[in-house]
Amino acid sequence: MSEQSHFIRDIIIADRQSTKNGGRVHTRFPPEPNGYLHVGHAKSINLNFGLAKEFGGKCNLRFDDTNPSKEETEYVDSIIEDVRWLGGEWDGIYYASDYFQQLYDWAVQLIKSGKAYVCDLTPDQVRENRGTLGEPGINSPYRDRSVEENLELFARMKAGEFPDGSRTLRAKIDMASKNLNLRDPIMYRILHAEHHRTGKQWCIYPMYDYAHGQSDSIEGITHSICTLEFEDHRPLYDWFVEQLGIHHPRQIEFDRLDLTYTMMSKRKLLKLVQDTYVNGWDDPRMPTISGMRRRGYTPESLRNFANGLGVSKTAGITELALLEYHVREDLNKRALRVMGVLRPLKLVLDNYPDEQVEYMEAVNNPEDASAGTRKIPFSKVLYIEQDDFREDPPKQFFRLSPGREVRLRYGYFVTCTSVVKNERGEVMEVHCSFDPASRGGNSPNGRKVKATIHWVSAAHAMDAEVRIYETLFTKEDPNDVSPESTAGQDFTANLNPKSLEVISAKVEPSLTGASPGSRYQLERMGYFCIDKDSSADKLVLNRTVTLKDALAKIENKAGGKK
Ligand code: ATP
Ligand code: MG
Repeated sequence: MSEQSHFIRDIIIADRQSTKNGGRVHTRFPPEPNGYLHVGHAKSINLNFGLAKEFGGKCNLRFDDTNPSKEETEYVDSIIEDVRWLGGEWDGIYYASDYFQQLYDWAVQLIKSGKAYVCDLTPDQVRENRGTLGEPGINSPYRDRSVEENLELFARMKAGEFPDGSRTLRAKIDMASKNLNLRDPIMYRILHAEHHRTGKQWCIYPMYDYAHGQSDSIEGITHSICTLEFEDHRPLYDWFVEQLGIHHPRQIEFDRLDLTYTMMSKRKLLKLVQDTYVNGWDDPRMPTISGMRRRGYTPESLRNFANGLGVSKTAGITELALLEYHVREDLNKRALRVMGVLRPLKLVLDNYPDEQVEYMEAVNNPEDASAGTRKIPFSKVLYIEQDDFREDPPKQFFRLSPGREVRLRYGYFVTCTSVVKNERGEVMEVHCSFDPASRGGNSPNGRKVKATIHWVSAAHAMDAEVRIYETLFTKEDPNDVSPESTAGQDFTANLNPKSLEVISAKVEPSLTGASPGSRYQLERMGYFCIDKDSSADKLVLNRTVTLKDALAKIENKAGGKK
């Protein structure tokens, strides 16, 4: 999968050479099922599954489901679907919740060895006593409880005798450590909540820092790859596995993907869904894998994008244009070309026989000869794009205007002879004459035209609702609510009011019956994908991306970082 060399690959190669873990490579992708996966996760998926594949190893899909109040089966199902769609081949599907008993037993072991204690402070008090970077924390008054008392209290916590938040189990490390994560971190909290898999079996739940490394260890993970914010947690990760004397995976941190104009926090994406700023997790404007799939992105384009990102130890922002470049590249190779008019203007060929219909041969994909050709109906009354006609053309406008000749793609050369206007002076119809000698759009006797425009036959065209998307946010950094602009507001103040435009278009009849998910290039207009809202008599198309390549602006194509 990934081809560029990077420091994580180098670590793996060195570990294999020193026959660490018997040369095995076993990674995992560990989402918390508290929302849908987004394009940032695609980077992690690509890395974890890609490295396992490259080194003949394995990658587990593991649900980090230790927080019952936010997790749901719907999210588990969507994550499985998305990872599969992206091409991740897992060795098995695992759940941290399957390890609850083992994690509990290990916690008891740590209590017995004097490395953990039950603390009666509330989680808020624990936080207050933690100190700061400059100041050490304060030892809990419960830190020196006897092993017996700790064992008894922990058992009673598990038995449900205490209310939420009244006690925790904490690791006994060092309240003066320079690393705040080592100041007696909480291992277990009391939470009387129903878990989506274990139901009411547990009312104490392990914290991420305690559950994660031990889950890795149980699964025999060799390289536990996570994002940079966990760098300071690594000493704690190492501490637990060392104290327990169990298999010790190696945690390696890399830079998370951050994209311009894109929100990458599941919590905030959930807010967009819940407060109906968007139409669900798979709204094509969402940066979720399901939203991007619905919009027409291919798994290959996301993989190529992720591969091109590289992996590093410093955070940066990637241009959205880089993602769009990759989807264009991929769709250019695979999307069938069709003609569709987004903003129709009627064009009448005055010298074309009234009832005549011709079937013009059109190439399905100039990038792929095996895609063949199709026949498109041509007749007296057509639709062209409003933007392809100007009654009073500016200097650089070479498309249709009174007296000018253009090529109708695969059709004929036509010359505009007159226009029909409504009472407001708007052009309602364009009248043309056609040259029979130019059939198929071929130039008669070497005559040149400066423009070729697309069209559909009015009598044969299908109606289509086309959804045109712009970025969901108006700011490169959607979280920027700096004082001048949106003081006191949250990120939703940066939502783009024009992120969705719905228009009524006309498309060629070959799209009849096209199934949801099919991707096309509407010639000259962009790449589009059939939406699941389509019905037998009405097509709905999502614009995936325009044809224009904004990437030219970006100096470094491969990195794309600012
Ligand atoms: P969020 O804060 O949006 O909930 P998260 O990091 O908590 O994101 P998880 O479900 O815990 O999301 O993430 C699963 C895996 O994906 C983790 O290993 C995490 O590091 C990785 N990941 C999450 N977001 C990104 C990102 N933007 N870029 C790269 N990897 C990411
Ligand atoms: Mg998380």
